[in-house]
Amino acid sequence: MAIKILLVEDSETQLKFLQEGLEENGFEVVTALNGAEGYKKLFECAPDVVLSDIMMPVIDGYQLCRMIKNKEETKKIPVVLLTILDKKIDSFWGKKSGAQLFLSKSIDMKELVYSLKATQRRYPITDEYKADLIQKSNKENNAQSQLNMILNDLLLKSVFANEFRNLSDFLNYERILVEKMFSLLSSFVEYSVAGVFFASPDDFAENILYIDTLGRNLSKNVLTDIQYDFFRKLQDFKDYKSTKFEVVRILLGKEMEYNFSDLKSKIIIPLVFDKKLIGGICFYSKQDIDYSTFSYFDIMISELLAIFKTKYQYTEKEFMSVLDGLTGLYNRRQFELSLEQEFNRTKRHPSDFSLAILDIDFFKKVNDTYGHQYGDYVLKTVSDLMKSSFRKTDLLYRYGGEELVIILPETNIEGAIIPVQRLRRSVEEYDFNYNGVKAKVTVSMGLTMNFQEFDSPAEMLKSADEALYKAKENGRNRVILHEQQ
Ligand code: GH3
Ligand code: MG
Ligand code: MG
Repeated sequence: MAIKILLVEDSETQLKFLQEGLEENGFEVVTALNGAEGYKKLFECAPDVVLSDIMMPVIDGYQLCRMIKNKEETKKIPVVLLTILDKKIDSFWGKKSGAQLFLSKSIDMKELVYSLKATQRRYPITDEYKADLIQKSNKENNAQSQLNMILNDLLLKSVFANEFRNLSDFLNYERILVEKMFSLLSSFVEYSVAGVFFASPDDFAENILYIDTLGRNLSKNVLTDIQYDFFRKLQDFKDYKSTKFEVVRILLGKEMEYNFSDLKSKIIIPLVFDKKLIGGICFYSKQDIDYSTFSYFDIMISELLAIFKTKYQYTEKEFMSVLDGLTGLYNRRQFELSLEQEFNRTKRHPSDFSLAILDIDFFKKVNDTYGHQYGDYVLKTVSDLMKSSFRKTDLLYRYGGEELVIILPETNIEGAIIPVQRLRRSVEEYDFNYNGVKAKVTVSMGLTMNFQEFDSPAEMLKSADEALYKAKENGRNRVILHEQQ
Protein backbone atom coordinates (compact mmCIF):
# COMPACT_ATOMS: atom_id res chain seq x y z
CA MET A 1 0.00 0.00 0.00
CA ALA A 2 1.19 3.48 -0.85
CA ILE A 3 2.69 5.55 1.93
CA LYS A 4 0.33 8.39 2.70
CA ILE A 5 1.94 11.79 3.12
CA LEU A 6 0.17 14.84 4.49
CA LEU A 7 1.97 17.70 2.81
CA VAL A 8 1.56 21.12 4.39
CA GLU A 9 2.99 24.03 2.46
CA ASP A 10 1.75 27.59 1.98
CA SER A 11 3.48 28.33 -1.30
CA GLU A 12 1.36 26.89 -4.09
CA THR A 13 4.27 26.48 -6.52
CA GLN A 14 6.32 24.65 -3.94
CA LEU A 15 3.31 22.53 -3.00
CA LYS A 16 2.66 21.54 -6.56
CA PHE A 17 6.28 20.72 -7.18
CA LEU A 18 6.53 18.49 -4.12
CA GLN A 19 3.16 16.84 -4.66
CA GLU A 20 4.00 15.85 -8.23
CA GLY A 21 7.47 14.66 -7.35
CA LEU A 22 6.17 12.48 -4.53
CA GLU A 23 3.27 11.05 -6.50
CA GLU A 24 5.64 10.11 -9.29
CA ASN A 25 7.56 8.16 -6.71
CA GLY A 26 4.50 6.21 -5.61
CA PHE A 27 3.36 8.15 -2.56
CA GLU A 28 -0.22 9.05 -1.89
CA VAL A 29 -0.29 12.79 -1.15
CA VAL A 30 -2.91 14.83 0.67
CA THR A 31 -2.23 18.57 0.68
CA ALA A 32 -2.98 21.48 2.96
CA LEU A 33 -2.10 25.13 2.48
CA ASN A 34 -1.54 26.07 6.09
CA GLY A 35 -1.10 24.65 9.58
CA ALA A 36 -4.74 24.91 10.55
CA GLU A 37 -5.91 23.10 7.43
CA GLY A 38 -3.14 20.55 7.91
CA TYR A 39 -4.29 19.83 11.42
CA LYS A 40 -7.88 19.34 10.26
CA LYS A 41 -6.85 17.01 7.43
CA LEU A 42 -4.69 14.99 9.76
CA PHE A 43 -7.84 13.57 11.32
CA GLU A 44 -9.56 13.07 7.97
CA CYS A 45 -6.81 11.24 6.14
CA ALA A 46 -4.68 9.66 8.92
CA PRO A 47 -1.34 9.87 7.08
CA ASP A 48 1.82 7.82 7.63
CA VAL A 49 4.03 10.89 7.67
CA VAL A 50 3.43 14.63 7.95
CA LEU A 51 5.74 16.69 5.77
CA SER A 52 5.47 20.34 6.63
CA ASP A 53 6.98 23.67 5.81
CA ILE A 54 8.00 25.71 8.83
CA MET A 55 7.32 29.28 7.82
CA MET A 56 3.60 29.58 7.29
CA PRO A 57 1.11 32.24 8.31
CA VAL A 58 -1.20 31.82 11.36
CA ILE A 59 -0.07 28.41 12.54
CA ASP A 60 3.47 27.58 11.58
CA GLY A 61 5.26 24.26 11.22
CA TYR A 62 6.60 24.19 14.77
CA GLN A 63 3.17 24.85 16.22
CA LEU A 64 1.55 22.27 14.01
CA CYS A 65 4.17 19.76 15.07
CA ARG A 66 3.75 20.59 18.76
CA MET A 67 0.01 20.16 18.44
CA ILE A 68 0.43 16.78 16.79
CA LYS A 69 2.89 15.68 19.49
CA ASN A 70 0.73 16.92 22.33
CA LYS A 71 -2.19 14.72 21.52
CA GLU A 72 -2.38 11.06 22.37
CA GLU A 73 -4.30 10.26 19.17
CA THR A 74 -1.79 11.88 16.85
CA LYS A 75 1.53 11.92 18.62
CA LYS A 76 2.83 8.74 16.99
CA ILE A 77 2.61 10.16 13.51
CA PRO A 78 6.11 11.17 12.45
CA VAL A 79 6.63 14.77 11.40
CA VAL A 80 9.26 15.92 8.95
CA LEU A 81 9.91 19.63 8.83
CA LEU A 82 11.29 21.41 5.83
CA THR A 83 13.52 24.28 6.76
CA ILE A 84 15.63 26.95 5.16
CA LEU A 85 16.68 28.36 8.49
CA ASP A 86 19.66 27.23 10.44
CA LYS A 87 19.88 29.69 13.29
CA LYS A 88 20.41 28.40 16.82
CA ILE A 89 16.96 29.42 17.93
CA ASP A 90 15.42 27.41 15.09
CA SER A 91 17.17 24.28 16.10
CA PHE A 92 16.06 24.95 19.67
CA TRP A 93 12.42 25.26 18.68
CA GLY A 94 12.89 22.41 16.32
CA LYS A 95 13.88 20.14 19.17
CA LYS A 96 11.12 21.44 21.40
CA SER A 97 8.57 20.89 18.66
CA GLY A 98 9.18 17.16 18.80
CA ALA A 99 9.69 16.67 15.05
CA GLN A 100 11.32 13.42 13.94
CA LEU A 101 13.38 14.90 11.14
CA PHE A 102 14.55 18.17 9.65
CA LEU A 103 15.28 18.46 5.99
CA SER A 104 16.57 21.39 4.06
CA LYS A 105 14.11 22.84 1.58
CA SER A 106 16.75 22.60 -1.09
CA ILE A 107 16.96 18.80 -0.77
CA ASP A 108 16.62 16.94 -4.10
CA MET A 109 13.65 14.70 -4.76
CA LYS A 110 15.60 11.49 -4.62
CA GLU A 111 16.86 12.21 -1.14
CA LEU A 112 13.45 13.38 0.01
CA VAL A 113 11.85 10.15 -1.20
CA TYR A 114 14.52 8.14 0.54
CA SER A 115 14.11 10.05 3.83
CA LEU A 116 10.34 9.77 3.84
CA LYS A 117 10.48 6.01 3.23
CA ALA A 118 13.03 5.62 5.99
CA THR A 119 10.90 7.68 8.35
CA GLN A 120 7.85 5.59 7.62
CA ARG A 121 9.80 2.39 8.26
CA ARG A 122 11.18 3.74 11.48
CA TYR A 123 7.88 5.03 12.84
CA PRO A 124 5.21 2.79 11.32
CA ILE A 125 1.62 3.75 12.01
CA THR A 126 -0.77 0.83 12.44
CA ASP A 127 -4.14 0.63 10.68
CA GLU A 128 -5.78 0.51 14.04
CA TYR A 129 -4.19 3.80 15.11
CA LYS A 130 -5.30 5.35 11.81
CA ALA A 131 -8.85 4.09 12.24
CA ASP A 132 -9.00 5.53 15.73
CA LEU A 133 -7.83 8.85 14.43
CA ILE A 134 -10.41 8.98 11.67
CA GLN A 135 -13.12 8.21 14.20
CA LYS A 136 -12.08 11.31 16.08
CA SER A 137 -12.21 13.39 12.95
CA ASN A 138 -15.55 14.97 13.77
CA LYS A 139 -14.45 16.34 17.05
CA GLU A 140 -11.47 18.13 18.50
CA ASN A 141 -9.80 18.75 15.21
CA ASN A 142 -10.15 22.48 15.28
CA ALA A 143 -6.60 23.71 15.17
CA GLN A 144 -7.29 27.04 16.76
CA SER A 145 -9.04 25.62 19.80
CA GLN A 146 -6.40 22.95 20.10
CA LEU A 147 -3.67 25.57 19.95
CA ASN A 148 -5.51 27.66 22.53
CA MET A 149 -5.64 24.68 24.82
CA ILE A 150 -1.90 24.19 24.53
CA LEU A 151 -1.27 27.87 25.08
CA ASN A 152 -3.53 27.92 28.12
CA ASP A 153 -1.74 24.94 29.49
CA LEU A 154 1.65 26.56 28.97
CA LEU A 155 0.44 29.81 30.41
CA LEU A 156 -0.96 28.05 33.43
CA LYS A 157 2.30 26.23 33.96
CA SER A 158 4.34 29.38 33.76
CA VAL A 159 1.98 31.32 36.01
CA PHE A 160 2.11 28.43 38.36
CA ALA A 161 5.91 28.30 38.38
CA ASN A 162 5.96 32.03 38.87
CA GLU A 163 3.68 31.88 41.89
CA PHE A 164 5.99 29.38 43.50
CA ARG A 165 8.99 31.53 42.72
CA ASN A 166 7.34 34.46 44.50
CA LEU A 167 7.38 32.40 47.67
CA SER A 168 11.14 32.63 47.75
CA ASP A 169 10.81 36.23 48.96
CA PHE A 170 9.80 34.77 52.29
CA LEU A 171 12.57 32.25 52.78
CA ASN A 172 13.73 33.94 55.98
CA TYR A 173 10.30 33.99 57.55
CA GLU A 174 9.31 30.42 57.93
CA ARG A 175 5.88 31.09 59.30
CA ILE A 176 4.96 33.57 56.61
CA LEU A 177 6.43 31.31 53.98
CA VAL A 178 4.22 28.52 55.21
CA GLU A 179 1.11 30.67 55.23
CA LYS A 180 1.76 31.83 51.67
CA MET A 181 2.54 28.28 50.60
CA PHE A 182 -0.72 26.97 51.99
CA SER A 183 -2.74 29.69 50.41
CA LEU A 184 -1.12 28.87 47.06
CA LEU A 185 -1.45 25.10 47.44
CA SER A 186 -5.08 25.33 48.52
CA SER A 187 -5.86 27.28 45.37
CA PHE A 188 -5.20 24.28 43.16
CA VAL A 189 -4.95 21.12 45.26
CA GLU A 190 -8.05 19.57 46.79
CA TYR A 191 -7.41 18.71 50.38
CA SER A 192 -8.93 18.62 53.84
CA VAL A 193 -5.58 18.81 55.59
CA ALA A 194 -2.18 19.76 54.23
CA GLY A 195 1.16 19.65 55.98
CA VAL A 196 4.54 21.23 55.33
CA PHE A 197 7.78 20.36 57.06
CA PHE A 198 11.23 21.88 56.71
CA ALA A 199 14.09 19.72 57.88
CA SER A 200 16.90 21.58 59.56
CA PRO A 201 20.65 21.00 59.25
CA ASP A 202 20.73 21.56 63.01
CA ASP A 203 20.00 18.28 64.77
CA PHE A 204 18.82 20.10 67.85
CA ALA A 205 16.39 22.35 66.09
CA GLU A 206 12.73 21.76 66.71
CA ASN A 207 10.97 19.83 63.96
CA ILE A 208 7.69 21.46 63.18
CA LEU A 209 4.98 20.08 60.97
CA TYR A 210 2.87 23.03 59.87
CA ILE A 211 -0.68 22.01 59.27
CA ASP A 212 -3.46 23.69 57.35
CA THR A 213 -6.95 22.41 58.10
CA LEU A 214 -8.75 24.89 55.86
CA GLY A 215 -10.26 26.50 58.86
CA ARG A 216 -11.62 23.40 60.53
CA ASN A 217 -10.95 22.82 64.17
CA LEU A 218 -9.39 19.41 64.38
CA SER A 219 -8.93 17.57 67.63
CA LYS A 220 -5.44 17.06 68.96
CA ASN A 221 -5.84 13.32 68.34
CA VAL A 222 -6.40 13.74 64.65
CA LEU A 223 -3.47 16.12 64.42
CA THR A 224 -1.24 13.68 66.27
CA ASP A 225 -2.33 10.88 63.93
CA ILE A 226 -1.45 12.98 60.93
CA GLN A 227 1.87 13.90 62.45
CA TYR A 228 2.63 10.27 63.15
CA ASP A 229 1.50 9.14 59.72
CA PHE A 230 3.55 11.80 57.98
CA PHE A 231 6.83 11.40 59.84
CA ARG A 232 6.65 7.64 59.71
CA LYS A 233 6.89 7.92 55.92
CA LEU A 234 9.99 10.06 55.98
CA GLN A 235 13.32 8.34 56.07
CA ASP A 236 15.48 9.39 59.02
CA PHE A 237 12.37 10.10 61.04
CA LYS A 238 11.64 7.11 63.13
CA ASP A 239 10.83 9.14 66.18
CA TYR A 240 7.82 11.26 65.39
CA LYS A 241 7.63 12.34 69.03
CA SER A 242 10.67 14.54 68.52
CA THR A 243 8.45 16.72 66.42
CA LYS A 244 5.66 19.08 67.18
CA PHE A 245 2.93 20.44 65.02
CA GLU A 246 1.61 23.88 64.60
CA VAL A 247 -1.65 24.69 62.92
CA VAL A 248 -1.51 27.74 60.75
CA ARG A 249 -4.10 29.53 58.69
CA ILE A 250 -7.02 28.94 60.93
CA LEU A 251 -9.65 30.67 58.86
CA LEU A 252 -13.28 31.19 59.74
CA GLY A 253 -13.02 28.18 62.08
CA LYS A 254 -16.23 26.39 61.22
CA GLU A 255 -16.47 23.63 63.77
CA MET A 256 -16.63 20.32 62.05
CA GLU A 257 -14.90 17.40 63.58
CA TYR A 258 -13.77 14.34 61.75
CA ASN A 259 -11.54 11.41 62.49
CA PHE A 260 -8.27 10.42 60.95
CA SER A 261 -10.01 7.41 59.42
CA ASP A 262 -12.33 9.75 57.50
CA LEU A 263 -9.37 10.91 55.49
CA LYS A 264 -9.68 8.53 52.57
CA SER A 265 -6.97 9.79 50.27
CA LYS A 266 -3.51 11.00 50.92
CA ILE A 267 -0.15 11.69 49.42
CA ILE A 268 3.06 12.14 51.37
CA ILE A 269 6.00 13.57 49.48
CA PRO A 270 9.45 13.57 51.06
CA LEU A 271 11.73 16.18 49.52
CA VAL A 272 15.26 14.94 49.18
CA PHE A 273 18.30 16.75 47.91
CA ASP A 274 21.85 15.46 47.81
CA LYS A 275 20.70 12.31 49.64
CA LYS A 276 19.52 14.44 52.55
CA LEU A 277 15.95 14.84 53.63
CA ILE A 278 15.28 18.55 53.35
CA GLY A 279 11.56 18.53 54.00
CA GLY A 280 8.24 17.10 53.02
CA ILE A 281 4.67 17.93 52.21
CA CYS A 282 1.46 15.97 52.54
CA PHE A 283 -2.15 16.22 51.54
CA TYR A 284 -5.05 14.35 53.07
CA SER A 285 -8.58 14.41 51.81
CA LYS A 286 -11.95 13.16 52.88
CA GLN A 287 -12.79 12.85 49.20
CA ASP A 288 -11.66 9.99 47.02
CA ILE A 289 -8.83 11.60 45.11
CA ASP A 290 -6.09 9.93 43.15
CA TYR A 291 -3.35 12.42 43.90
CA SER A 292 -0.87 10.63 41.70
CA THR A 293 -2.79 11.61 38.56
CA PHE A 294 -2.86 15.28 39.41
CA SER A 295 -1.48 16.93 36.28
CA TYR A 296 0.53 19.68 37.92
CA PHE A 297 2.20 17.65 40.61
CA ASP A 298 5.48 17.35 38.78
CA ILE A 299 5.90 21.10 38.30
CA MET A 300 4.65 21.70 41.81
CA ILE A 301 7.17 19.31 43.29
CA SER A 302 10.08 20.62 41.30
CA GLU A 303 9.21 24.19 42.29
CA LEU A 304 8.78 23.18 45.92
CA LEU A 305 12.04 21.32 45.85
CA ALA A 306 13.82 24.44 44.63
CA ILE A 307 12.35 26.47 47.48
CA PHE A 308 13.12 23.86 50.10
CA LYS A 309 16.63 23.51 48.77
CA THR A 310 17.36 27.21 48.96
CA LYS A 311 15.86 27.43 52.40
CA TYR A 312 17.87 24.47 53.61
CA GLN A 313 21.09 25.86 52.24
CA TYR A 314 20.34 29.22 53.76
CA THR A 315 19.69 27.68 57.17
CA GLU A 316 22.80 25.60 56.82
CA LYS A 317 24.84 28.71 56.19
CA GLU A 318 23.28 30.54 59.13
CA PHE A 319 23.81 27.52 61.30
CA MET A 320 27.47 27.33 60.40
CA SER A 321 28.09 31.00 60.90
CA VAL A 322 28.32 32.88 64.16
CA LEU A 323 26.52 36.10 63.41
CA ASP A 324 22.95 36.64 62.37
CA GLY A 325 22.78 38.24 58.94
CA LEU A 326 20.02 40.77 59.56
CA THR A 327 20.86 42.15 62.98
CA GLY A 328 24.59 41.54 63.21
CA LEU A 329 24.00 39.97 66.63
CA TYR A 330 25.33 36.56 67.58
CA ASN A 331 22.94 33.83 66.47
CA ARG A 332 20.98 31.28 68.42
CA ARG A 333 23.58 28.59 68.25
CA GLN A 334 26.15 30.91 69.79
CA PHE A 335 23.65 31.84 72.45
CA GLU A 336 23.09 28.24 73.40
CA LEU A 337 26.81 27.61 73.61
CA SER A 338 27.46 30.75 75.69
CA LEU A 339 24.58 30.18 78.07
CA GLU A 340 25.80 26.70 78.80
CA GLN A 341 29.38 27.87 79.26
CA GLU A 342 28.40 30.74 81.54
CA PHE A 343 26.10 28.51 83.54
CA ASN A 344 28.76 25.87 84.08
CA ARG A 345 31.46 28.40 84.80
CA THR A 346 29.42 30.11 87.54
CA LYS A 347 28.65 26.72 89.05
CA ARG A 348 32.36 26.08 89.42
CA HIS A 349 33.35 29.61 90.35
CA PRO A 350 30.27 31.11 91.98
CA SER A 351 29.32 34.50 90.59
CA ASP A 352 26.13 36.10 89.31
CA PHE A 353 25.00 36.48 85.76
CA SER A 354 21.68 37.62 84.36
CA LEU A 355 19.70 36.69 81.31
CA ALA A 356 17.09 38.84 79.59
CA ILE A 357 14.80 37.92 76.74
CA LEU A 358 13.05 40.46 74.58
CA ASP A 359 10.11 40.06 72.23
CA ILE A 360 8.73 42.84 70.08
CA ASP A 361 5.09 43.61 70.82
CA PHE A 362 2.52 42.99 68.11
CA PHE A 363 5.24 42.40 65.59
CA LYS A 364 2.92 40.48 63.32
CA LYS A 365 0.85 43.61 63.06
CA VAL A 366 3.91 45.63 62.09
CA ASN A 367 4.59 43.16 59.29
CA ASP A 368 0.96 43.07 58.21
CA THR A 369 0.53 46.82 58.26
CA TYR A 370 3.81 48.01 56.80
CA GLY A 371 5.28 44.94 55.11
CA HIS A 372 8.15 42.64 55.97
CA GLN A 373 10.85 45.02 54.93
CA TYR A 374 9.54 47.42 57.49
CA GLY A 375 9.48 44.59 60.02
CA ASP A 376 13.10 43.87 59.22
CA TYR A 377 13.97 47.52 59.65
CA VAL A 378 12.27 47.56 63.08
CA LEU A 379 14.09 44.43 64.14
CA LYS A 380 17.41 45.83 62.99
CA THR A 381 16.74 49.14 64.76
CA VAL A 382 15.76 47.46 68.02
CA SER A 383 19.01 45.46 67.80
CA ASP A 384 20.96 48.69 67.32
CA LEU A 385 19.22 50.29 70.31
CA MET A 386 20.13 47.20 72.25
CA LYS A 387 23.78 47.53 71.28
CA SER A 388 23.84 51.07 72.63
CA SER A 389 22.00 50.24 75.88
CA PHE A 390 24.40 47.60 77.19
CA ARG A 391 28.02 47.40 78.18
CA LYS A 392 30.64 46.06 75.84
CA THR A 393 31.00 43.00 78.06
CA ASP A 394 27.32 42.09 77.75
CA LEU A 395 26.56 39.52 75.09
CA LEU A 396 23.74 40.12 72.62
CA TYR A 397 22.03 37.47 70.51
CA ARG A 398 19.18 36.98 68.14
CA TYR A 399 17.38 34.06 69.63
CA GLY A 400 14.62 33.51 67.12
CA GLY A 401 12.48 35.48 64.67
CA GLU A 402 11.96 38.69 66.61
CA GLU A 403 13.26 37.49 69.94
CA LEU A 404 16.54 38.86 71.21
CA VAL A 405 18.45 37.79 74.30
CA ILE A 406 21.15 39.33 76.41
CA ILE A 407 23.59 37.61 78.75
CA LEU A 408 25.00 39.99 81.38
CA PRO A 409 28.08 38.39 82.98
CA GLU A 410 29.00 39.39 86.53
CA THR A 411 25.66 41.13 86.96
CA ASN A 412 22.84 40.28 89.34
CA ILE A 413 19.18 40.88 88.60
CA GLU A 414 19.10 44.22 90.43
CA GLY A 415 22.01 45.43 88.35
CA ALA A 416 20.57 44.05 85.12
CA ILE A 417 17.21 45.75 85.51
CA ILE A 418 18.79 49.17 84.87
CA PRO A 419 20.05 48.65 81.30
CA VAL A 420 17.07 46.43 80.54
CA GLN A 421 14.60 49.17 81.49
CA ARG A 422 16.77 51.67 79.62
CA LEU A 423 16.40 49.60 76.49
CA ARG A 424 12.65 49.16 76.92
CA ARG A 425 12.25 52.91 77.31
CA SER A 426 14.51 53.78 74.39
CA VAL A 427 12.44 51.58 72.07
CA GLU A 428 9.22 53.12 73.37
CA GLU A 429 10.56 56.63 72.74
CA TYR A 430 12.13 55.90 69.38
CA ASP A 431 10.45 57.34 66.29
CA PHE A 432 10.69 54.57 63.76
CA ASN A 433 10.86 55.96 60.26
CA TYR A 434 11.61 53.99 57.14
CA ASN A 435 11.23 55.62 53.74
CA GLY A 436 9.09 58.28 55.37
CA VAL A 437 6.73 55.80 57.02
CA LYS A 438 6.55 56.41 60.75
CA ALA A 439 5.60 53.96 63.49
CA LYS A 440 5.80 53.42 67.23
CA VAL A 441 6.90 50.07 68.61
CA THR A 442 7.29 48.63 72.09
CA VAL A 443 8.97 45.57 73.51
CA SER A 444 8.30 43.21 76.41
CA MET A 445 11.07 41.60 78.37
CA GLY A 446 11.61 38.80 80.84
CA LEU A 447 14.58 38.88 83.20
CA THR A 448 16.20 36.23 85.32
CA MET A 449 19.55 35.32 86.85
CA ASN A 450 21.42 32.17 87.78
CA PHE A 451 19.48 31.46 90.98
CA GLN A 452 20.37 28.34 92.96
CA GLU A 453 17.05 26.74 92.03
CA PHE A 454 18.14 26.18 88.43
CA ASP A 455 19.81 22.89 87.69
CA SER A 456 20.38 23.53 84.02
CA PRO A 457 20.73 26.35 81.52
CA ALA A 458 17.42 25.18 80.03
CA GLU A 459 15.62 25.79 83.32
CA MET A 460 17.12 29.23 83.55
CA LEU A 461 16.04 30.07 80.02
CA LYS A 462 12.57 28.77 80.74
CA SER A 463 12.23 31.12 83.70
CA ALA A 464 13.13 34.08 81.48
CA ASP A 465 10.60 32.92 78.94
CA GLU A 466 7.90 32.62 81.59
CA ALA A 467 8.64 36.11 82.85
CA LEU A 468 8.37 37.37 79.27
CA TYR A 469 5.04 35.64 78.94
CA LYS A 470 3.82 37.42 82.06
CA ALA A 471 5.01 40.73 80.64
CA LYS A 472 2.85 40.05 77.59
CA GLU A 473 -0.11 39.02 79.70
CA ASN A 474 0.15 42.07 81.91
CA GLY A 475 -0.16 44.51 79.04
CA ARG A 476 3.21 44.46 77.21
CA ASN A 477 5.80 47.27 77.05
CA ARG A 478 7.17 46.15 80.40
CA VAL A 479 9.90 44.11 82.09
CA ILE A 480 8.96 41.26 84.44
CA LEU A 481 11.47 39.62 86.76
CA HIS A 482 11.55 35.97 87.60
CA GLU A 483 10.63 35.61 91.24
CA GLN A 484 13.10 33.55 93.18
CA GLN A 485 11.52 30.51 94.83
P1 GH3 B 1 3.20 39.57 70.81
O1 GH3 B 1 3.07 40.97 71.28
O2 GH3 B 1 2.33 38.63 71.55
O3 GH3 B 1 4.62 39.10 70.77
O4 GH3 B 1 2.63 39.60 69.33
P2 GH3 B 1 3.44 39.29 68.01
O5 GH3 B 1 2.59 39.69 66.88
O6 GH3 B 1 4.79 39.90 68.08
O7 GH3 B 1 3.50 37.73 68.10
P3 GH3 B 1 4.74 36.81 67.93
O8 GH3 B 1 5.86 37.25 68.80
O9 GH3 B 1 4.28 35.39 68.09
O10 GH3 B 1 5.01 37.05 66.39
C1 GH3 B 1 6.23 36.94 65.83
C2 GH3 B 1 6.11 37.32 64.35
O11 GH3 B 1 7.27 37.98 63.94
C3 GH3 B 1 6.02 36.13 63.47
C4 GH3 B 1 6.64 36.58 62.20
O12 GH3 B 1 5.61 36.99 61.34
C5 GH3 B 1 7.45 37.79 62.56
N1 GH3 B 1 8.87 37.62 62.32
C6 GH3 B 1 9.69 36.70 62.83
N2 GH3 B 1 10.94 36.88 62.38
C7 GH3 B 1 10.92 37.94 61.54
C8 GH3 B 1 11.91 38.62 60.77
O13 GH3 B 1 13.09 38.30 60.75
N3 GH3 B 1 11.50 39.69 60.04
C9 GH3 B 1 10.21 40.10 60.03
N4 GH3 B 1 9.88 41.15 59.29
N5 GH3 B 1 9.26 39.46 60.74
C10 GH3 B 1 9.60 38.41 61.48
MG1 MG C 1 7.82 36.20 69.24
MG1 MG D 1 6.20 39.44 69.41
